[in-house]
Formats: sequence, C-alpha cells, structure tokens
Amino acid sequence: MTTMEKKENDGVTQEDSVIVTVALDSSETGAFLAIDETREQVGSSAQEPQESNAAVDNEAIVAVSTKHQKKRVWCSDEQLKYLCKCFNKTPSPSMEHRQRIAEKINMDLEKVSRWFRYRRGGKNREDSETVSSAPEGQKEDSFTSDELWMLNAHYEKDKYPYRSTIEIIVKLLKCSYNKVYNWFRNQRRKDKKNGIVLSPKPNEKTKRTICDKLSTSSTAEEKKRRENGSSPDNSFESLHSRIIFRMKKLLVKLHAKLLEQLDEKLLEQQRKEHKELSDVMDNAKTQTSSLELMKVVFEGLKGKKGESFAETVMDCEAFFREGGLCCGKYFDCDPIQTCATCGDQFHPVCRDLGRRSNGGENQCPCRIRQAMLFKYRSTDIPLDPCATFLEKCVKNWVHTNRKIAIRVTTAENMEADFGEDFEAFYAKMKKNLPVQKIRNKMIFVFTDDDGDEILFFAMLANEYKDAAKSDLMTIRYLDSVSFINDGDLRTNVYNSVVLGYMGYTASIGYKKSHFWACPPDPKDSYLFRGRPAWQPVPTEKRLIKWYTTLLDLGKTRGVVAEYGRDYEGPQEKKLFKQIEHMICDGGYWNEIIGKKLFIETYGGSQPIQQHVLSDLRAEMTLKDKPIFYIDLISRIMIAIEELPSITSELTKTRDTWKKFLEDNELDFTYRETAKYATAFIIQTLIRELIATGQMADPHANSPAPECSSDSSPPTSSSS
Ligand SMILES: [Zn+2]
Ligand SMILES: [Zn+2]
Ligand SMILES: [Zn+2]
Repeated sequence: MTTMEKKENDGVTQEDSVIVTVALDSSETGAFLAIDETREQVGSSAQEPQESNAAVDNEAIVAVSTKHQKKRVWCSDEQLKYLCKCFNKTPSPSMEHRQRIAEKINMDLEKVSRWFRYRRGGKNREDSETVSSAPEGQKEDSFTSDELWMLNAHYEKDKYPYRSTIEIIVKLLKCSYNKVYNWFRNQRRKDKKNGIVLSPKPNEKTKRTICDKLSTSSTAEEKKRRENGSSPDNSFESLHSRIIFRMKKLLVKLHAKLLEQLDEKLLEQQRKEHKELSDVMDNAKTQTSSLELMKVVFEGLKGKKGESFAETVMDCEAFFREGGLCCGKYFDCDPIQTCATCGDQFHPVCRDLGRRSNGGENQCPCRIRQAMLFKYRSTDIPLDPCATFLEKCVKNWVHTNRKIAIRVTTAENMEADFGEDFEAFYAKMKKNLPVQKIRNKMIFVFTDDDGDEILFFAMLANEYKDAAKSDLMTIRYLDSVSFINDGDLRTNVYNSVVLGYMGYTASIGYKKSHFWACPPDPKDSYLFRGRPAWQPVPTEKRLIKWYTTLLDLGKTRGVVAEYGRDYEGPQEKKLFKQIEHMICDGGYWNEIIGKKLFIETYGGSQPIQQHVLSDLRAEMTLKDKPIFYIDLISRIMIAIEELPSITSELTKTRDTWKKFLEDNELDFTYRETAKYATAFIIQTLIRELIATGQMADPHANSPAPECSSDSSPPTSSSS
C-alpha cells in the first residue's frame, strides 16, 4: 500500500467516524451494538474543546445513525448474552441492579447503562407499540433545570407532541426517546390529576407549532413525508427547525447563567452575549436557504468562548452535515459550492484534501482529491544546519509523540528597512540613510494532524552582517496559529524554537539579540493569513510577560546569559552616530525617532540636532520599554553536518511571503483551510527548490499517483 492510498483510506475512516455510530440488530440472539467513540474536533467557528478526552462528556457525543451499519467489537458475546438476558427480564434495571450486572460481566457501569438506554431506544424504534407499555417510573437520570425549562415551554404549546417533535427534542437533549415521551405523558397525567382540563388531542388536520420560537412544517408536509417514508432530515424546514431549536437551547443556557451571575462586570458581558445571540437567532429564523442560515449561525457564534458555545457549534455542524452541506462546517474563506454533475454541496477544500473521497473508481469530480497537494511532505524539504540544530533542540526540550518538523530558508544580502517615518526624518535632516546588511532566516514549524500537516509556527529573524553590528541577531516576526490544542505543549514548542535559534546563532558567532514586544494588528497577522477565531491577539503586556518567561527559561537552558530592558549600547556625543547604534530593521528606536519624535513631537519639520539628541536620551532612560536586550551565552560551534542553506524567492522577506499567501488565498482561520494552505506551501516551495537545483525530486522515479485529478499545479484555494 503506498502512502498515497493509505491517506485516502484514512480520510474515509475519519469521515465515517465523525459521529458515534450505533447499530442495533433486531434479532434477539444476534443483538449487536457497536459504538465508535471517536470524536471530531470542533475546529472551526468557535472555541476548541480541550484535548484531554477525560474532559469530554461521552454522553454528549452520542448520536444515532442508521446509515452507517458498522460492526466494531464493543463487547464480547458472553457479555452481550448476559446483557440481553437481563434486558428481557428488566428493561430498565435500577442503578444497583446495573452495578451488579457491571461487576458480573466486568464492564464499566457507564457502558452498561448506555447499553440499556440504547437497547430501550432501539426497541422503541422497532415497534412503536412498546412506547405505551414502557415500564413505569424509570429511574433514569432526571432532567437539568435548563432542560426542564425547555420541556415545559414545549408542553405549554403542545401537550401531545408528534413523534418527529419528540425526536428533535431527543436529539437536542441527547437522551432516550422514552425519557422524553414519558416526561410528556407523566406531565399530562399530573395535570389531569390536578384537575387541569387538557385541550383534546388534536387530529392530523389541526395545525400546531412546536413552540413560538420555532417554525415547523405543516401537518400536510408531515403526512406526506411519512407516506414517502423519507427522513424529515432532508428538508430545509427540518434543518432550519433543528438549528433554531439548538440555538434556543443555547439561549436558555445563557439565560440561566445570567440569573446566577453575581459579578456586575461579568453580568454586563453576559447580557451583551445573550442579546447578540438572540439577535442571531432572530436573524436565523428569517433565513430561507441553508447556506445563508449556515452563515448567519456560524458568523454569530464565531470566536465565542465557553463549553456551551463549542457544543452548540458542534451540534449545528452535525445538523448541517446531516442536511447535506459537506462536512457541516463554515469556512468564510472557502464557500460551499454545488457540484454541477451530482448536485452535492461541498467545500473545495474538503474535496482537495480528500475528505470527500469514497475510494471508488468512478467518483464524481466533487469527490476527487487533489493528488498534487499531497505529493510532498514538509520533511521532503532539505534540512540546513539551522533546522538540524533546531530539530535537535526541540527533541531535547519537548517531550511529545507529535511529529514536529522544522525547516529554514535563508536570504543573503538583504538590507535593513527603517520604516517610512524614519526615512522621512533622514530626508528632512538631509542625511543619507545608513545601509545595514542582513541575512534573513525564515523558520517554519510543521506538525502532523490526523495524517495531514499543519504549519503552526513561523519566525523571521535578521542576522546582521555589517562590521558595526556583526554580533547582533534580532527576531523580527514571530507568529503562530494555535492548532495544537495542548497549550503547554504549544508554548514549549514556541519557546524551544526561539531559544534553539538563539543557541544556533551563538554557535555561529552572534553575541547579542533583541526583540521588541510589539503586538500584531488584530486584523492582520505577522506571518500567517488569518488566525483561528478562538486565538486571542496578544497585547503588549501579555507579550512582555511571555518574553520574560521565555528569557528566564533561556537562562536555565544555557542559552541566555543576561537580559534587560534598558539600552546598554554605546553613548555618543553626535546625534547620527548615536542613532546608527540604535536602529535596525523594523526596530523600536526607528519608530521612536521617526514617528514619536519627528512626526508627533516636531510635526514633521526640521528639528535642531541637539534637541533630538536630548529627547532621544530621555526616551532611553524610560523604564519598562517594550524591548528586550539579550546577551547570548557564547558557544563553541557544535559539529553540524556541512549542509547548504536553502534559498527561496517565496520566503525571502515578509512582503514576498505575505504576497504569496494573499495571491493564493491561503487562509489559516480554520483547521481544514490551514491544512490546505500548508500542503500548498510545501508543494510550491519544493517545486521551486527542484527547479533551482537545490534538491532532487524525491518522487522522480515513482509513477504518477492514480487518483490524480489534475496534474497541473494547484493555483488557488478555490480552483
Ligand atoms: Zn433569555
Ligand atoms: Zn466540508
Ligand atoms: Zn458531484
């Protein structure tokens, strides 16, 4: 099996295991239950769930599917036989009873409980007669107050809900059909006992609504659907009502939180959130197309934090997926398209990544993945001495099973850029701009993610080459997209790459480094294009804290000798001599001199040199400047294999790199689009390296992949 084929298969498995599949055989002896407990990550519009599976409420992820009749070994034949025997005697065993069963057959109590729950649910689906003869007073876990609030709201509107209505509630509350059915029945009994006159059970022709917040299909449609035997899931109306219902559930939750909140400030924020959400819901209610509905819902939930939002996103994604909208996720940078051949709705990114492939011979074009995207992996890019060193550092300092690959490109003979304001200042002073020669290093860190790769960290550094600054290295841009869910691991990788790079530069003769804690523009990224909605944009304060922790760690790791935030360089009597010690590519002092002093203080007119010098000295003595001056611990060059450096037009400067991302609409906002972008970057970079003779094609002698849809290079994310 080639790696190409393997990836294809992995893709299919992943697609199928997105939801937990439960298959129940109707024959008594062969009763079979399969539960596949893999779970797809939220990964798109809202906050990511925690990586730890322990934090995942298993119950919350169970969804029933009759489409995928998967056979997985979930329990042994003996266990199953015993469970069936017990079920025949007591379909709803008490907690103690279940505990005894669990001990007897050596199975988790949780698993046993779930088996009974689904067994009852399954019986119920097979034969509606059993519903009314369901055992009385089941000791199932009771409803939460939120759930009761919702049930009561429905009960007030509709005391005799249809099966389809109950099924929607079941999906939302993630409990058994019987539990909801019995709740309604018991409620009616209670009312009758208390002498409340119930409106008569309406007949088919009476139009009823599920609740005032919901739009529902008319009874005629309901009837037609039942006659056709088609699932109600296929209509827009059904999708719409499920989505609205789910949003309603979220609102109920938010409302309950409002009532509990005592902190005034948090209350204000939650009120705002509640208001925003109810506006989103009002907007969603008026939508008449699934794509527009999707947009309204996910734009509305975007970037919202907290478990209830993450769950809502996940549920809505499942509803949209079941409603036929590709993977159910929303990518504003990759809109869903309709296949001209089969009419399927799909994301081009999902097609290109092979998410839609079913491995068949004659697949519809909307299912054929872009084989070109997977021709090369990041590890096919040759290592240079710096990347070799960094990979060793990460291996030493980061303990993880994740694959981390680091590659570095170099651009020689670059010149420092001091910024427009600074240039204007020099022009006004009739001085020639100083020339500083630098070498750019672009560092890329990749990781594996379910068989795909994600570029999740990038750094651009300047190594000074001219005589005056030959011992200086500066970290110019440092950027990341947090697709590694484990925050500690993520931070440790970032720290290790930065400190590793400091160690590397020390080993080739650099003694000093500095960086400026300058937060990125919230609307732009330093080195990526787009960032996940849940990833906060760091503030200056946060950056300073992070750099401080990083540099302290650098001391214990034997990289940093000393660091501080005061200027310690030479003091000169002449202004321009002083300035030239301080400025560097994109430096802090260029901005102080060009923007703060020249533009803001002197209003862009020519100042007296001595004034500038004294103003500059005043700036230098300010405490807590957002700049770090670092002395590196000098190292003896560790023997590194004689590897040539890698050069690329693509990664030469931040501008060429950002233009490349822009031109190809590569976007790192969502996990899937980030994977596409990463694959695209790797393919393009390697083709450039092959074309410029820096590497041989690793697949030069292997036959072209069979599933290739398009042998020409990928040109854009929406191609
Ligand atoms: Zn409310
Ligand atoms: Zn998709
Ligand atoms: Zn198609």
